[in-house]
Amino acid sequence: MRPLTAEETVALSYEEYIFKSTIVYSHESNDCNILCDDLISNLSRDKDCVMGFDTEWPVTYQKGGQPKTALIQLCFDTTKCYLFHVSCMGKFPVMLKKLIEMDHVKKVGLNVEYDIWKLGTDFDIKAKEIVQKSSIELRTMANKKLKSSENWSLEGLARNVLHRRISKDPSVRKCDWTQFPLPETQQRYAATDAVMSLMIFRDLEKR
Ligand code: ZN
Repeated sequence: MRPLTAEETVALSYEEYIFKSTIVYSHESNDCNILCDDLISNLSRDKDCVMGFDTEWPVTYQKGGQPKTALIQLCFDTTKCYLFHVSCMGKFPVMLKKLIEMDHVKKVGLNVEYDIWKLGTDFDIKAKEIVQKSSIELRTMANKKLKSSENWSLEGLARNVLHRRISKDPSVRKCDWTQFPLPETQQRYAATDAVMSLMIFRDLEKR
């Protein structure tokens, strides 16, 4: 293992953030449609809103491309996170597609553009339009606001912007994201990424 950088040593004293509030875990297409329909009807029609966004797929070292996106995490506030286990669903839920494609719902995350391009490859999602009109790349936003030119990771942003630590335990990160039901620790880990993205966005926005 490489030695810790000075910044990482300081960060050890930061409080760890792990999402402990409500997780809504859905692994069934109809159920997901109902939840997304409900989310859409609660959104303001004439105002942009921001959604913390992240996706996961199993890590493989085999040739022949990456496995499909297995999990989609999204949140509109820091008290509730939705986990849609799309690898368990027969068909990509139409209402989830609708929600993700909505112009006035800004998808914010780290590497969010890649996540969306991948969704467009894996499923029938209008990736190009989303990337052009309704995604917010945290790395770009952070560099602008912090006047930096870093290749930020989510842990790095959590440290620098919020003075919090998030765990990037490889045993969780490299687990099988298609397994059903998704174990509690993985659910918490996945939700933490999406909620942390929203928290970082909100802090940067004020600067
Ligand atoms: Zn993630």
